[in-house]
Amino acid sequence: MRALLDTVESSRELPASADVVVIGGGIIGSFTAYYLARRGLKVALLEKGRIGGEQSSRNWGWCRQQNRDARELPMATKSLDLWEQFAADEQEQTGFRRCGLLYLSNDEAELAGWARWGEFARSVNVRTQMLNAAEAAEHGKATGKAWKGGVYSPTDGTADPSRAAPAVARATMRRGGTVHQGCAVRGLETEGGRLSAVITEKGSIRTRVAVLAGGAWASSFCRQYGIRFPQATIRQTVMAVAPGAGELPPALHTSQISITRRSDGGYTLAVSGRGRVDPTAQLLRFSTQFLPMFMRRWRNLAPGTLEGLRSGHESLSRWRLDQPTPMERMRILDPTPDTAAIRLTHQRALAFMPALKDRAVTGAWAGYVDSTPDGVPGIGEIASLPGLVLAAGFSGHGFGIGPGAGHLIADIVSGAAPLVDPRPYHPDRFKSSAWGQVADF
Ligand SMILES: Cc1cc2nc3c(=O)[nH]c(=O)nc-3n(C[C@H](O)[C@H](O)[C@H](O)COP(=O)(O)OP(=O)(O)OC[C@H]3O[C@@H](n4cnc5c(N)ncnc54)[C@H](O)[C@@H]3O)c2cc1C
Repeated sequence: MRALLDTVESSRELPASADVVVIGGGIIGSFTAYYLARRGLKVALLEKGRIGGEQSSRNWGWCRQQNRDARELPMATKSLDLWEQFAADEQEQTGFRRCGLLYLSNDEAELAGWARWGEFARSVNVRTQMLNAAEAAEHGKATGKAWKGGVYSPTDGTADPSRAAPAVARATMRRGGTVHQGCAVRGLETEGGRLSAVITEKGSIRTRVAVLAGGAWASSFCRQYGIRFPQATIRQTVMAVAPGAGELPPALHTSQISITRRSDGGYTLAVSGRGRVDPTAQLLRFSTQFLPMFMRRWRNLAPGTLEGLRSGHESLSRWRLDQPTPMERMRILDPTPDTAAIRLTHQRALAFMPALKDRAVTGAWAGYVDSTPDGVPGIGEIASLPGLVLAAGFSGHGFGIGPGAGHLIADIVSGAAPLVDPRPYHPDRFKSSAWGQVADF
């Protein structure tokens, strides 16, 4: 089994013009288009492959405030409400539920870190509950193990990555937007220095505003216009087991293994933070900027393969607008799952959760997580290309904050009061500080 994904039927015709064109139909582009359509703007959402086909359907589905960096926490909190609001307003299912997230540990230093975060969280009215050994054993009884402690965040939750982005894209259409799959954006045109059109493989759309929500492809797209957006991708692998493993917690993190109950009753298993770094010329180009991030996570990262070069998402080449681009040669980034990671994940899962022993392994897949040097997304208009708004680099946390990010981007585009302070996200920070404070993952 690969990552599951609901289908979306595309709109019939590419419009000749739009108020806003959104490039990339992951969770970020879909929610951006949705909030723009709700405001009555004429919006076209363009996706080179399938809505949700890349990172947005390959993740664990966690929507968390727990352990979030202070810069992202306000957006994470708003997003939880917006996930609920979306379900109330639309006849679409994203699978979102506030099931609570459970973290367990036997490491004093880790527990002390969580306690420090808890103090900060309480100061901004976020609910999180430190667990002593007895409480941790009770919450984590399915593990059959003793724990020194843990933390439980009752208001956090999960949504279903196989359904969320498609559900939001369908709601966007119902609200008057159009959605076009198999429609790669090759480039942009400008008039008098401002964006004037978006050029796709199927024709061009006149517009004065485009949102680049292209995930792992954003930096190479920016490069076509001399915009420097430092971005690196890390290949992360997850595996799935069949339903029926009994009452395991809906979402559990430990340093050894993380498990998430999917809406089909099966579990997604992964080792948190573990990934492969596939070398590319782009990685080399931005390597000094990413040094602090890689230093911080080196224990979990291993060198990868030449797959990143073959995929083309980090290509340094220039594209022509009248010829197929790397995006058309790679409709859906579907990187190879790491077999060593699968073996390790499975071994740990069996040692850890005896109830998983009899469950069949139903699949494994990988995704390229697109990161910025400080682990916080880049959201904001690009000064050198007025009309182009960047929204990428969600660094392993973009699914849960998708609604808040989409709302904020729609606010920026339509000039509404911003949902949260947009300043911490502005991509200009990559110019002024090479080494920002790296976010906790
Ligand atoms: C294994 C794994 C686990 C994760 N777990 C979590 C989690 O539990 N919680 C969480 O919050 N986050 C998690 N994440 C991160 C999360 O999935 C991402 O941050 C989020 O999905 C990013 O969304 P996006 O819309 O920016 O990118 P994507 O989903 O990658 O979408 C970008 C889209 O743009 C399209 N595109 C690019 N260029 C063009 C172009 N020129 N023209 C047309 N289309 C284009 C692509 O085809 C793609 O579909 C995880 C990620 C992975 C891989």
